Amino acid sequence: MPIVLYNSLSQQKEEFVPLHPNKVSMYVCGPTVYSDPHIGHAKTYVSFDVMLRYLKHQGFKTFYVQNITDVGHLLGDDNEGEDRILKKAREADQEPMAIAEYYAYRYFEVMDRLGVQRPDISPRATGHIPEQLELIQDLMERGYAYEVNGSVYFNVAKYPEYAALSNRDTEEMKSGTRVEVRSEKQNSQDFALWKRAEGGHLMRWRDPWSGWGYPGWHTECVAMSSKYLGDTFDIHGGGMDLKFPHHDSEIAQARCTDKGFARYWMHSNMLTISGQKMSKSLGNFITLHDACDEFDPLTIRYFCVASHYRSVVDYSQDALVGAQTALLRLHQVTQALRDRLPENVKPTHQHFQDYRDRFCEAMDDDFSTPQALAVLFELSKEANVLLRSETPDPSRIADAEHLFTSLGGTVLGIIPTEIITHHKADERLADVMELMIDLRQHFRKNKDFAMSDQVRDRLKNIGIQLQDSKDGCSWEWIES
Ligand SMILES: [Zn+2]
Repeated sequence: MPIVLYNSLSQQKEEFVPLHPNKVSMYVCGPTVYSDPHIGHAKTYVSFDVMLRYLKHQGFKTFYVQNITDVGHLLGDDNEGEDRILKKAREADQEPMAIAEYYAYRYFEVMDRLGVQRPDISPRATGHIPEQLELIQDLMERGYAYEVNGSVYFNVAKYPEYAALSNRDTEEMKSGTRVEVRSEKQNSQDFALWKRAEGGHLMRWRDPWSGWGYPGWHTECVAMSSKYLGDTFDIHGGGMDLKFPHHDSEIAQARCTDKGFARYWMHSNMLTISGQKMSKSLGNFITLHDACDEFDPLTIRYFCVASHYRSVVDYSQDALVGAQTALLRLHQVTQALRDRLPENVKPTHQHFQDYRDRFCEAMDDDFSTPQALAVLFELSKEANVLLRSETPDPSRIADAEHLFTSLGGTVLGIIPTEIITHHKADERLADVMELMIDLRQHFRKNKDFAMSDQVRDRLKNIGIQLQDSKDGCSWEWIES
């Protein structure tokens, strides 16, 4: 089965044919390291992590570059105003590079907790100034960029296809823009490739124009992707909010310097908080560190995987509790299989293979993780039937366990090889269930069958099934 993915550039699903057989080169825009990552970053980076894991699982050799923006990402949406890292450095009375270092460390720390595999290279914008200057000079020589007062701008009028990715009409955009504060640009849509550094600017480099300056945000990804992945590579990804102006501006620079650039563009959708856009001004801003302290990071990962990467996902307390309960079911069945798996019994890959096929079919279709998860839940029903039998076939146990470990673990990253019950709530639930089972036994002993039945029935109403066997009573969630 070929892998089909949605290419944001053509706005349709396309068969994925890599540039080089069995190899995938991928670039995803990384964080600007001036503050802690927020919960929306989990959706983006878990989504691309799952894609990479699946491609590896299907035998592709992957090469993954994700940059770190440590200069040039300015405060305003139009990439004007103060540099975000400089502002933070000023407020914290710190060196800008100390700010970048601290938040880059914090970013990787929390991504590690989420099980997001590290990129092969994490190049930094400040480490690639000569490459960016070279690209800017190339654009100037070809007539696509101009210098004014020591800053260099891309001339959007010279590239009529500008904003094709975000599907914007540049003429309409012009009439809709507010009056420019800085009027040195030829057109309001022109974007900065290089900015002249004002006196006292803490991050600046020698340039061929005014003497000192720093790169604009949109240039680094073009310079660094072509350095490490070549002028043409397979997949370029990022959050939906980066389509414009960031990715459209990347495409303009790449195309105007004769680079094939990304062959497939993939964008993960937004995460909302209880139906609202997350923003500091609304007071609903949740950092990933806080979220990972409140919930098990695997629960947050599950929550991300349970929605398709192109769907908007809504973060709420209820949704996370639901994710926790669902993930617990997968962990319980996997652990039960592991507990029953005799030593030295290896998977035969003979049983339940239709589940693997259906899982892969879902993933081959634009990485449809919700459908892939549904297949794992169906497999969990079969596994529970198997576990209830008096003498389950060990090879069937081994095969089912292997599917949970490889598809749920290696690919989706939600079933670890060592399942540890981290959730206090789960532990409390286990204690409460032990109490309920003891109470029911007590009623039965005293021949109060009305009460013992009531316990069983009321538990069933809330989704818990009691199982009586010669070894005693156990419980499990009723499959929905
Ligand atoms: Zn980028």
